[in-house]
Amino acid sequence: MIEFSLPWFGIFFAVFCVMEFNAWFLHKYVMHGFLWSLHKDHHVVDKERWWQRNDLFAIFFAVPSFFSILFSTLLVSPYLGAFGFGIMFYGAAYFFVHEIIIHRRIKIKGLNRGRYIKAVKRAHHIHHSIKEKEGATCFGMLVVPFKYFK
Ligand SMILES: [Zn+2]
Ligand SMILES: [Zn+2]
Repeated sequence: MIEFSLPWFGIFFAVFCVMEFNAWFLHKYVMHGFLWSLHKDHHVVDKERWWQRNDLFAIFFAVPSFFSILFSTLLVSPYLGAFGFGIMFYGAAYFFVHEIIIHRRIKIKGLNRGRYIKAVKRAHHIHHSIKEKEGATCFGMLVVPFKYFK
């Protein structure tokens, strides 16, 4: 049973925001670091295959979120649930923006509009312009530097 309250939404929103930092950190220091072997096929894509090794990183969102929500119901701890849903919604937003809007792995028409979406795409395409482990920029996803809005 979820008990929505102001602190619940506070935690949910804070976790959602912290996840952007986590995603940035994971991308910059882990995916372009010691787990480059799993991230590489997202930069050098094999068009014949739908799945990428890089998709395994979804586990970083799914596992903590799944267990937080599970234990929030078992322990009747709504705030743990807020934590889990914060991660889950960030994961869903990341999936929607990165896999669907930017990389179009699932084709949905009419999404390519608006200044924000164009800025997100511009920044991420700059990230992809480097095909190597070293030298890439723009590791974030939902937070885009102002210069890409122009
Ligand atoms: Zn990358
Ligand atoms: Zn990408």
